[in-house]
Amino acid sequence: MEQLAEAGNVTEASELMQAIDMLKEEQARLQDSLTQVDPAFRHEQRMEICDVCGAFSVPIEGHVRQVSHVEGKQHTGFVKLRQVLQDLKVQTRAQSYTASV
Ligand SMILES: [Zn+2]
Repeated sequence: MEQLAEAGNVTEASELMQAIDMLKEEQARLQDSLTQVDPAFRHEQRMEICDVCGAFSVPIEGHVRQVSHVEGKQHTGFVKLRQVLQDLKVQTRAQSYTASV
């Protein structure tokens, strides 16, 4: 029974890690496409990709826009997802340590 629960956690953790990997690939792809944009346009717009959720942000639109992004559903969702993933990693490590002793 305990083994099942443990396996469930590991599966959940690896699924979350796969999701994160996919997002990282998507982020890399978006960054690649950004570098292909006309350099003059890129300089004007100063487009950036959010480190947390991968959304585009435009610093030129000012502080209020940034705050509303950080409080937005997509961004907060990713913050939670990363927290859950971190918790699962710690949990999984603790469990495998206990199992090996
Ligand atoms: Zn974000």
